[in-house]
Amino acid sequence: MCLACYGAPEAAESLHPPASHRWMPRRAFLLAAGAAAAAPALAQVQVDEASRLRNLVPAGELEAAAGQQYSQMIAQARQQGALASEGHPQLKRLRDIAQDLVPHAARWNDRARGWRWEINLIGSKQINAFCMPGGKIAFFTGILNQLELTDDEAAMVMGHEMAHALREHARARIAKTQGTSIGLSVLSQVLGLGQLGSIAADVGTQLLSLRFSREDEIDADLVGLELAARGAYLPQSAISLWEKMGRAAGGSGGPGFLSTHPRGPERIARLQDNVPRVQGLYEQAVGRR
Ligand SMILES: [Zn+2]
Repeated sequence: MCLACYGAPEAAESLHPPASHRWMPRRAFLLAAGAAAAAPALAQVQVDEASRLRNLVPAGELEAAAGQQYSQMIAQARQQGALASEGHPQLKRLRDIAQDLVPHAARWNDRARGWRWEINLIGSKQINAFCMPGGKIAFFTGILNQLELTDDEAAMVMGHEMAHALREHARARIAKTQGTSIGLSVLSQVLGLGQLGSIAADVGTQLLSLRFSREDEIDADLVGLELAARGAYLPQSAISLWEKMGRAAGGSGGPGFLSTHPRGPERIARLQDNVPRVQGLYEQAVGRR
């Protein structure tokens, strides 16, 4: 999720609540997305197969834990008056975009057929968004408002975050960084207790140190680009999105950004190379609208 994806500096803003009640997503960027599968044979963007290492961490359990963590975060945001209500126009906009993208998700991960997707909007000035394993999405108002995202650009953000989940980057990262035996024992131990409430906390601890690699970020960019194109969102807007992101980061991007991300120009170049590959999908999708 989030910081890992965008690395933008924290700022303060909210839906309405006073600054003292600002929602601080402590674990927000831990639980980034997850899920995924090999690149489908018909993929248009140039991506590698998803890491096989991910298979060493049980997907169902990770998704269940992420779902618990997500519910807690949403409940906390609601308590603090930072959760957008059902009628919020920006929330409606995000859910409309999700409706266009989700039907194409299973192309990248069969598990997604069984996911219960959720989309929420949280009042925070952070330039951030995430999708946890199992399809639990949240946007912060900061990314929509400060970057003044168009629908096409917001769809690119959503596609990117969904791609982390679909490609199971979190799952693979746990396997790689925590060691498979640790990852498995913690998960199975916790699950063996049958106490759902504690699962999220324990997995959250594991995911605390989780950062996506540059390769994961590029992968999410490209898979997200294709998802958005199939949903009839303008491919070129991936470029304008990252240009905006670069300007918001003030050129340096802050400490988190440089350590975990490809620099803007590299990222943009990879996207630019792939835009023509999905242009046809976009035009077909627009034609079907
Ligand atoms: Zn990312």
